[in-house]
Amino acid sequence: MTQTRTIGVVTTGGDAPGMNAAIRAVTRVAYSKGLQVIGFERGWEGLINNNFRRLTPRSVGGIIQLGGTILHTARCPEFKTPEGIRKAANTVNEHNMCGLVVIGGDGSFRGALELSKNSHAKMVGIPATIDNDVYGTDETIGFDTAVNTAVAEIDKIRDTAISHERIFIVEVMGRQRGFLAITVGITVGAEIIIVPENKCELDQVIETLKRNASKGKKAGIVVAAEGCGKISDLAKQIEEETDSEVRLTILGYVQRGGSPTARSRLLASLFAEKAVELLEEGSGNYAVGLQNGKIACIPLEESCNGKKRLDPKMLALADMLSI
Ligand code: ADP
Repeated sequence: MTQTRTIGVVTTGGDAPGMNAAIRAVTRVAYSKGLQVIGFERGWEGLINNNFRRLTPRSVGGIIQLGGTILHTARCPEFKTPEGIRKAANTVNEHNMCGLVVIGGDGSFRGALELSKNSHAKMVGIPATIDNDVYGTDETIGFDTAVNTAVAEIDKIRDTAISHERIFIVEVMGRQRGFLAITVGITVGAEIIIVPENKCELDQVIETLKRNASKGKKAGIVVAAEGCGKISDLAKQIEEETDSEVRLTILGYVQRGGSPTARSRLLASLFAEKAVELLEEGSGNYAVGLQNGKIACIPLEESCNGKKRLDPKMLALADMLSI
């Protein structure tokens, strides 16, 4: 009798809305194909300590609409050491897993690549981060949800900005990248968008705000990515150099939570299907992704080494739309 093959699934790094939808889809697609699934708890820690639970089509019921991750997640410095990798590889071997689905961002993919060099199991990465900064995919799970969360909040801020004729600087997440900021900025109609990839000088910001005021546009929204330095200093400087009242809002962790949008759930389901298909056919060490509207994959190593570019056309469009 042939033994049922087993795959593992883990969520690691920063959480993103839609991770649960991915766990659910990995489990159900795997079972549909005759594979068993075990889920590791708290990211790489779960692999290091062999802390796991069996996942079944029923045990992943009722989670598609939930933000966060039922498996929990954590940063795991130990996994970056040879000893940590060795322990995780032992766990993979102990369960005789043929593959591991790693749901996370670029750091998680780097971890998966290291583990692949030390174990026989194939790795497949599913990109999930609100930062959308993973190379090899046009979009990551959770990005659309975070954009919509930020837009809903900034629309409210716009109301009070107009009433009081104030300038609001709104800091959004994105670590050192501006994908979230540029998308949110364009879709809230921000007057100015500041991203790490295209640092605009303070003079430019002041000039734009003064020009706007002279045109009768006294209220304004400046969307700034968190990776652009100390935004509170920017707010102070703007207030000092213009006649405007300036307020700062840091949106913070609300962007990481909440029920995933339909788009995040769909991406999660499609990525999961592709990931399990790869493992079922014995292929591995890939990162799945969305490329020009199609579900695709690239070698994990290529994803880890590549740097995703912020489309300069988005920046140009933002400028045209904010006149
Ligand atoms: P994200 O996946 O959201 O980008 P991190 O960058 O924090 O999050 O990475 C998640 C985890 O992956 C880290 O806590 C660490 O355990 C592991 N990791 C990241 N980079 C490496 C690496 N170069 N080698 C081994 N493990 C890594």
